[in-house]
Amino acid sequence: MKAAIIGSGIGGMATAIRLASLGFETHVFEQNSFYGGKINSKQLGAYRFDRGPSVFTEPHLIDELLQLNASERINFDYNKLPISCCYFFEDGTKVSLPSGSDAVAEALSNELGENRSKVLKFLERLEKNYNAVYPVFIKVSLHRVGHWLNSNIFKAIKRLPFYGLFSTMNGVNTSTFNNKKTVQIFNRFATYNGSDPYKSPGMFNIIAHLELNVGPFMPKGGMVAISDAVYKKAVEMGVDFHFNTRVEEIMHEKGRVTGIKHKRGILNCDLVTSNMDVHFTYEKLLPAFTGPSKVLSQEKSTSAIVFYWGIKKSFDALDVHNIFFSETYEDEFNQLFVKKTLIDDPTVYIHISSKVEKEDAPLGCENWFVMINAPVDDGQDWEVQKKRVRANILKKLGRILNQDIEPLIEEEENLDPVMMQRMYSGKNGSIYGNASNSTMASFYRHPNFSSSLKGLYFAGVTVHPGGGIPLALNSAAIVQRCVQNDFSIR
Ligand SMILES: Cc1cc2nc3c(=O)[nH]c(=O)nc-3n(C[C@H](O)[C@H](O)[C@H](O)COP(=O)(O)OP(=O)(O)OC[C@H]3O[C@@H](n4cnc5c(N)ncnc54)[C@H](O)[C@@H]3O)c2cc1C
Repeated sequence: MKAAIIGSGIGGMATAIRLASLGFETHVFEQNSFYGGKINSKQLGAYRFDRGPSVFTEPHLIDELLQLNASERINFDYNKLPISCCYFFEDGTKVSLPSGSDAVAEALSNELGENRSKVLKFLERLEKNYNAVYPVFIKVSLHRVGHWLNSNIFKAIKRLPFYGLFSTMNGVNTSTFNNKKTVQIFNRFATYNGSDPYKSPGMFNIIAHLELNVGPFMPKGGMVAISDAVYKKAVEMGVDFHFNTRVEEIMHEKGRVTGIKHKRGILNCDLVTSNMDVHFTYEKLLPAFTGPSKVLSQEKSTSAIVFYWGIKKSFDALDVHNIFFSETYEDEFNQLFVKKTLIDDPTVYIHISSKVEKEDAPLGCENWFVMINAPVDDGQDWEVQKKRVRANILKKLGRILNQDIEPLIEEEENLDPVMMQRMYSGKNGSIYGNASNSTMASFYRHPNFSSSLKGLYFAGVTVHPGGGIPLALNSAAIVQRCVQNDFSIR
């Protein structure tokens, strides 16, 4: 049997490996000349940059994928980072948060005056919530009763009072911590799926568990090493990649998928998995087909503006991950989601892989990936916005680091929501599909299969279970299980 995958993002390539392992002749069609989707890298002069994701959690999901039908070992190494993130506040406070619950509690108690045992108790609650929710909401399809109806559901139900279902993330965090700065640190995890902590349900605090209790990791060779290893594995499994080949239509007959039409021709096949934004899958590839309007019309997640700066200086005060917080955090989200614009004092994230990957920048220099959350494209003039925001970022960093940054920039490039839509086909440049800004948000994500078109599946961050690399990897595993059920493969 033949399978076509539309898109070589991490969710597409993981699905390809999994379908190949079931015996499908598997073809991946990618519109770009490179694999990995948003996990790709760029060289600017002597500096190397990861262009998309920078925070890597749950590396065991990649290990598991690389071990499927293990033959040749594919090199993929990573290290846990001792500091998960350095937080900078406008009043000069700096908090370097390690990972591991004891160390986090110690740091928050010493630096921000939090009650140590209260922090520990909260982190333990997040871990228990995560472990209860994972097997019934994240690892399996929410839309197939057989997947989640087992003894695990009772464990998840038992923890209902602890999820914070009827409060927002900010509500839960405000009632837990004394210091506004701690609340801001915990609220920040809503941005990991492009959402607003003042609207996102308290349940989403579980995202913090992965970074604070377990810790972030850094792949040897940078984030692009993830794409490289997964691509290599797919090729080893016999997956056929077709680059520069945009898929233009999903063909179907009598309620069943029959193949795809692409830029260079047609592939008849038994199943299609779309790793393309689900919104565009319907709009562009199935124009005569009505998609689930409720799901597709949900508010979209944030986009981003990224500046890639080669900096001819090294900063001891900075680590691999750094956040420079806005003083008006709630207003920042209001502007992003309601006014669809940017505040003058945005929260700035700086990732510097060269802190651990020395060859990513010349000696004594650093590769700064400088990102702010941005609204989705709504016709804003992004050239004007980028000019304004660049000046504001430089002012903010200059103020806090006590150093004029602009003269230190010797290489530069940027990315904005329109470029993001063009490069990766995310609806209006949104990074994670639907935002999770309501209690029911998780239930309004598209399932990993189509209930109207047999043989059509979906993997990637715009469908269940959600945004980020680990969830895209889970979506691929869910597709595999659905395909096994539907095609009676054991
Ligand atoms: C700036 C930025 C920072 C991020 N930071 C993090 C982070 O720190 N940690 C984290 O876990 N996640 C992060 N993310 C999100 C992360 O990149 C995504 O979760 C993940 O990489 C998306 O994988 P995906 O499988 O959904 O596919 P994508 O990477 O979106 O890839 C989809 C692929 O489909 C292709 N395609 C689309 N339409 C067609 C078509 N018609 N025909 C052929 N090909 C097509 C596209 O070209 C693309 O290659 C970030 C994203 C961005 C942009």
